[in-house]
Amino acid sequence: MQAANHRPSRLNIDLSAVQFNYRQIMKDLPAQTKGVAVIKANAYGHGALAVAQALEEEVDAFAVAVSDEALELRESGIQSELIILGYTDPGDASLHADHNIGLTILSLSWLQDTYNELQTDKRLKLHLKIDTGMSRLGVRSVKEAQKIIDFIAEYSDQLILESVFTHHATADSKVSNHQKQVIIQSSLFQNYQENLDFSQLEKNPYFHQSNSALSLWYPELTLDAVRLGIAIYGINPSNSALDLPYELKPALSLESELIFVKQMMGQERISYGAAYEAKKDEWIATLPFGYADGWQRRYGQGYALVDGKRCPFVGRVCMDQCMISLPEYYPEGTKVTLVGESGQERISLESIADEVDTIAYEIACLFTDRLPRKYS
Ligand code: PLP
Repeated sequence: MQAANHRPSRLNIDLSAVQFNYRQIMKDLPAQTKGVAVIKANAYGHGALAVAQALEEEVDAFAVAVSDEALELRESGIQSELIILGYTDPGDASLHADHNIGLTILSLSWLQDTYNELQTDKRLKLHLKIDTGMSRLGVRSVKEAQKIIDFIAEYSDQLILESVFTHHATADSKVSNHQKQVIIQSSLFQNYQENLDFSQLEKNPYFHQSNSALSLWYPELTLDAVRLGIAIYGINPSNSALDLPYELKPALSLESELIFVKQMMGQERISYGAAYEAKKDEWIATLPFGYADGWQRRYGQGYALVDGKRCPFVGRVCMDQCMISLPEYYPEGTKVTLVGESGQERISLESIADEVDTIAYEIACLFTDRLPRKYS
């Protein structure tokens, strides 16, 4: 989708905030910990290439979800280690080897298929995924994991095991059963660490289990590396359920302008479905973005900030526009903040997420490419 550069709605991305957050989190962890920055889904809407360039000097690797995200980074000149955390097609084994992109092993059969597809002159980096309770992807027994290691050892001229990892399902929660699950998953993973035999391999793989939530609230469970996603963007993984242990700086703000301002006569209705009846003399402003930009209809229960004042959305959010009620007259061209600070007020992705019963991850990822990203 083409970015709408000729329209005054934009996402501002503060890359120095991303660097600050990454450093802040790593500083709190044991000194030798490797850092993997998770920049899948266009760096959670923040722009994968820009975030990769901002962090390239500092991280040990970047992680993405799918092949095309990794290939795009390589083609744009990113030289760091790259890990694809999700499924890759065994048929693309040689393509990934050519671009030095590490793949996640999902099972022994996936590994055998991938090896069979790998041209004999190529070497492929691999990361073994263990399922300790997320029940999404990965190997589910020490026995299968050992067979995979033995297979890699047999074909070690072409297959390199870089790391072994698991993913936690509940580290962002203060519910006690969820906290118990963190400990259970962690000890299941420890069992793999203690019982797998890597002696046939050229080198020992590194182990990792921590996402942002584990890194923030369970730093004592840090292994050789951490995979940091949401927190490097300055977003609390728990929304508001758990307090951050230290300050993180939100990297993203969303700004626009009043493009049309009018005073209503009373008993007039606003937007599709005529759901909102304007009061007499109410000042209504139109903003130039809508659900095609990722500003979903359900966010229309919230408010925007104009001159440090909260202005509620009125009527339904449209595809390209939405309306707010102003406390008084403001001229067209006045700045509007949808996410970020204005005066003493602040709207965070977490607060919007809490209002509409979702997570800030989803809101950030759903901003479309029609919204230009301006980097600073
Ligand atoms: N590791 C894996 C396997 C993931 O799927 C994700 C994100 O979903 C992450 C790490 C990063 O998680 P977070 O953004 O919560 O730090």
